[in-house]
Amino acid sequence: MAYRAGLAAALGALALAGCSAAPASEAPAGESSRVDAVTSILNAGVSANMGGAKFLFDPLYDNHFGSLAEMDEPLIEAIINGSAPYDNVDAVFVSHAHGDHFSAEYLNRMMAAQPGVQLIAPAQAEEAMRGHELWQDGFAERITSVTLSNGEAAERIEVAGAVVEALRTPHAGWPERHSEVHNITFRVSATNAAGAPIRVMHMGDADPAAQHFTMNSRFFCCARTNVVMVPFWFFQQDQAGLLIDRTLNAERAIGVHVPVQTPAFLEGSDWTYFTKVGEEVSITPIAKPSE
Ligand SMILES: [Zn+2]
Repeated sequence: MAYRAGLAAALGALALAGCSAAPASEAPAGESSRVDAVTSILNAGVSANMGGAKFLFDPLYDNHFGSLAEMDEPLIEAIINGSAPYDNVDAVFVSHAHGDHFSAEYLNRMMAAQPGVQLIAPAQAEEAMRGHELWQDGFAERITSVTLSNGEAAERIEVAGAVVEALRTPHAGWPERHSEVHNITFRVSATNAAGAPIRVMHMGDADPAAQHFTMNSRFFCCARTNVVMVPFWFFQQDQAGLLIDRTLNAERAIGVHVPVQTPAFLEGSDWTYFTKVGEEVSITPIAKPSE
């Protein structure tokens, strides 16, 4: 299924159907789901509660490459099966089809276990899922597959009342490494319970060179983001503060993808970063809405 605006109504209807069909939860998830916040899973995995909707970014992976946190079985099963606090998930976003951000097996299992969940992912990820033995053809109608050139943004779609925008920029290591991998930044805009705009962005394994973003200034300039999740190497850039505030147009950044052995530069810094499951940063209304 291609990424297109006409999908919005169908996605919304499916998301609603999924919510109402979900079994009642005994967990205090109702309490936490009223709080607009981003919460760490592991590596680049983040859960975002936004205006009553719940989204997961890069939540499941099967390769820790020896230096990243390893997902344990209870965590994997909770996400796949939708146990609190991963219950009532509306949509999963996959930034790119690398094993430390994505698992064809786990996502196929999650799509089977949670018939209301939407998946928004690069076509490369869908292809990998289709090539796995647990693929079911019925998943396709719940997948929004993103195919973009570098520097190209997709049309907006609506998922569970939120507006989703996608932009492809090069994967870290560009141009020598991973240039064939489609890495997608997702920007999600919603409205909080008080009617104020809130917005988060997740950048996958984006290469941090400012040139990739300045050439996409039209994408970033017109929408101030409250919380952007960046790979921690963004904080090593010269003038990282300006990159985040001005170029990416974000009020605050959270470093993700932090190795188990936290880099010394990060530990001694004032940057916010996630290293453990359940660390939470609240999403506040955007101070300077610019739309
Ligand atoms: Zn990667």
